[in-house]
Amino acid sequence: MIKVAVNGYGTIGKRVADAVAAQPDMEIIGVSKTKPGAEAFVAKERGYPLYIADITKKESFEKAGIQVAGSVSDMIQKADIIVDATPGGVGEGNKALYEKYGKKAIWQGGEDHEVAGFSFNSSCNYAEAIGKQFARVVSCNTTGLCRIINLIDTAFGVKKVRATMVRRGGDPGDVKRGPIDAIVLNPVTIPSHHGPDVQSILPNINIVTSAMIVPTTLMHMHFLNMELKNPATKEQVIELIKAHSRLGLIEKSTGIISTAELKEYACDLLRPRGDLWENGIFKDSISVLEGTDLYLFQAIHQEADVVVETVDCIRAMAGSVKTASESIAITNKAVGLTA
Ligand code: NAD
Repeated sequence: MIKVAVNGYGTIGKRVADAVAAQPDMEIIGVSKTKPGAEAFVAKERGYPLYIADITKKESFEKAGIQVAGSVSDMIQKADIIVDATPGGVGEGNKALYEKYGKKAIWQGGEDHEVAGFSFNSSCNYAEAIGKQFARVVSCNTTGLCRIINLIDTAFGVKKVRATMVRRGGDPGDVKRGPIDAIVLNPVTIPSHHGPDVQSILPNINIVTSAMIVPTTLMHMHFLNMELKNPATKEQVIELIKAHSRLGLIEKSTGIISTAELKEYACDLLRPRGDLWENGIFKDSISVLEGTDLYLFQAIHQEADVVVETVDCIRAMAGSVKTASESIAITNKAVGLTA
């Protein structure tokens, strides 16, 4: 069993912990919090040993009825691998601790590529992660882009990608995030940082991205255009998407044409937390014009898609499963990604 610790039990960390706990070859040895808030109570309910970043706060946790198993340093020493899901920018500061104890660690997309020196996506570069000490699972948007771009590039060759991201303002629980009533160009400059982030995994892809933030919490929406090197048909693209377990095709017959309906669908399927781990690609939007000009819309559930990638990254770094397809199959089955 691979012993996993989750440093930062928040939006991503709590999902990673549950996904790891569901795997046949992994176990959660601890999760960490800074304050005795609602998520600390959830960790207690789940039976995950709770460690705290600042051990002087132990009393405030215990007063709230939450048992503290020790400090983050104690937790790290017990783990084979640490998933650092602290807020963007905080994780970098933990690197010295992981190095001190000679542990493997995975950061999330809020950290720069340089923190780990290696960025990961299961479908694109699983084999390169085998045995690595450090890795970074790219952001939700970059994960969604890498999955579809790599698939199309492998089949037809991609000459150029143009992508616009309509980004959610905050996660549903982020009451302090916005905007409430605006479309914010974020960043206002073009290209946005998402293109270079895709290139941290797919260095040969020519890509220009732009992004804006809108008043919604459920998901991001991408508008993608790929200029292909070799001609393709809409049917061929659909077949490739169907064969990829982390690309979901949204059929016209469902009537789903929005992120709200898609999220409702995931909830009705009884996905944990209504999580949609796969890209939600709208079948009717897939168009191939003049043989080599591919367009599509895809919805990306920001809280979910990176979770299954993180589980694969753990397995690759542990070196226990050698191929992406094998790891993806184990991960998908364990979390319930079956359709
Ligand atoms: P979050 O704020 O929801 O959770 C972070 C957790 O870390 C909180 O529970 C907080 O208590 C804890 N924490 C803060 N400082 C800590 C410290 N020093 N030691 C231990 N724990 C600490 O953040 P999040 O949204 O889950 O983001 C985590 C990472 O995942 C970031 O890199 C982010 O960019 C990335 N990410 C987030 C999303 C998303 O939609 N939220 C999507 C993809 C990637």
